[in-house]
Formats: sequence, C-alpha cells, structure tokens
Amino acid sequence: MNFSDIKKIKDKILNGYQITKEEAINLSQTGNIETLYYSANQIRANFCGSLFEMCCIINDVFDKCSEDCAWCPMSSLSKVNYTMYEQFDFDREIKMINEIHKQGVKLLEYCTNQKNLNNLQLNHAIEQLNKFSEATKIKICASCGSLSYDQLKRLKEETKVNIYHCNLETSPDFYKKVCTTNNQESKVETLKNAKKLGFEIWSGGIIGMGETMTDRIDFALKLRELEPKTITLNILFPFAGTPLEKQPRMNSQDILTTFAIFRFINPRAKIRLGRGRSLIKIIEKEALRAGINSSVVGELFVNAQPEEIENDKQRFEEEGFIISK
Ligand code: SF4
Repeated sequence: MNFSDIKKIKDKILNGYQITKEEAINLSQTGNIETLYYSANQIRANFCGSLFEMCCIINDVFDKCSEDCAWCPMSSLSKVNYTMYEQFDFDREIKMINEIHKQGVKLLEYCTNQKNLNNLQLNHAIEQLNKFSEATKIKICASCGSLSYDQLKRLKEETKVNIYHCNLETSPDFYKKVCTTNNQESKVETLKNAKKLGFEIWSGGIIGMGETMTDRIDFALKLRELEPKTITLNILFPFAGTPLEKQPRMNSQDILTTFAIFRFINPRAKIRLGRGRSLIKIIEKEALRAGINSSVVGELFVNAQPEEIENDKQRFEEEGFIISK
C-alpha cells in the first residue's frame, strides 16, 4: 500500500469505517511503515485524545496451574520454580499502591493464576479485592480467569470492582497451538457474561509466540467483535523452563506494525503496553507514536519504584500525552 492508500483508509476509519481483514493484511505489508505508524497515531488522537493511562499489576498466586499454556511460567508444563511468585505482603503493597496512585497510576489490575477459581479461591479473591478497595482509592480491575456467570455475579455483588479482564491471548487458530487444555470460547463467554452483568471489559494477549502477522490480525479482529475498552498487548517474555523459552524475539518493525494494525482495527480502545515492556524499551518512543496510549508500570508485582514512575511519566508526557487524573 502506498502513502495515499494508507491515508484513504485512515480517513475512512476517522469517519466510522471498520477495515476488513484483507485491508489489514495489505496495511501490514506496506513499505510505507512511517505513514502507517503516523496514521495509527492520528487515529488514536482522533478517538482517544491525549489522555494516557498508567496501570499496575498485582499477582495473587494459588497453586501451580493445571493448564498447559506454553508461555506461562505457572503452567503444568513449566519447569519454572513457581515459588518465585511469593504471596504478596499486603501492607507493603498498599503503601506502594497509595504512593504510585498519587503519582498518576490510576488503575490496579488484580490477577489470579488459575483458569477456573474454585469457591474457596473466589472467596479469597473477593476478600482481597475488598481489602484493596478499602485501603486505596485506586480503580481496580479483576482478572480471575474464565469465571462462570454466577461467579462473576458474586464478584459484581460482593465487591466494588466494575472492570473485568480476560485475555483472549492470541488468534483463535493459533491459540490451539499454545494451549490444549483451555479454549478461547470459554474466555469469550466470560467476557460476554461480564458485559451482561455491567462490567467494563478488558482483554488482550501476547505477541511474539511464533504467530504470523495474519494471526495477529485475526486476534485484533476477534477483539473488535467484543469491544473491550482496553486491549493489553504483552510481549512474550520467554521464561527459561517454559516450552517457549527458545522462541526467537520479534523484530522491532513487526512489533510496531502490530501496534499500528491493532489501532487501525480497534480505533476507540485504549491500547496498553503490557508485560514484556522492558524488552522493547529501545522502541518505546516509536510505540507511543504508533497508536499506544496506555502502559503498565512494573512487571510482576507492584514493584515499580516512585522514581521509575516519574521517569515513565516524563517519557509519556514528552510524547504529548496527558496522564489521566
Ligand atoms: S490459565 Fe493462566 S495461570 Fe494457568 S497456565 Fe494459563 S496463563 Fe498460566
């Protein structure tokens, strides 16, 4: 696609058009990558403005997971010593959350590490979420796997949480190659049920697991059907001891093109840099100019230090973003 083809598609999107898979493939193959990134940035500016959202993540770990997700250090296939994920120290985390909240981190994502929580685990998650709500003013999102309708209903009725996150992870076809014990349909159902119950829904996944650009486009199109408010794009962190430990890294151009294509397909979503952000530090500035408008801070627990947050804020503001109040 040449400069004017990309511009024409961008203008159509600004007028409400939804691009087709074929158009997305053609865009991803353009030699005019600067135009592609610049246009993605214009789409972001048009639909989302300059607000930038920073989010922190906290992992609440139960037993090692029974699923076989190839990327995950907690999976049944992983040889990673999962005690690295020690239970968090609640008081210490609250202190840190309150500090970074004052600095502009407005969202806390509470994640558990199981596909399906049993009732005891769900009780625990509800208890933790309520403790966070009482001790902080930060907005909280729950990410507790493929909960059933009734479990989501409990979460809605027994906590103040209004956001539910469930990752589709990748395209429907590629998913089967990296996870055989779970399926994407249950995730879609969870997201649909969460929406029905009045949750704002978030989703996303991982890039760099060996999928093709067409897989990534299928993934973005699948997300478009569900209309999540936020799409988190994690970059595979190839943990030693997981089946994907030797997966070659994606090159920078493919990463930036993926971000831009996600923006062309999901113009209104917040597109968030997720885990693995540290692996792409050298192209972070370019990513912020290719459609990204949100980022996690810290990688595993709420471990971002106040100085790091200040540096991050400065980087985002230098690109013209305003940190969400
Ligand atoms: S369901 Fe979640 S915690 Fe379990 S293996 Fe898959 S990604 Fe890891």
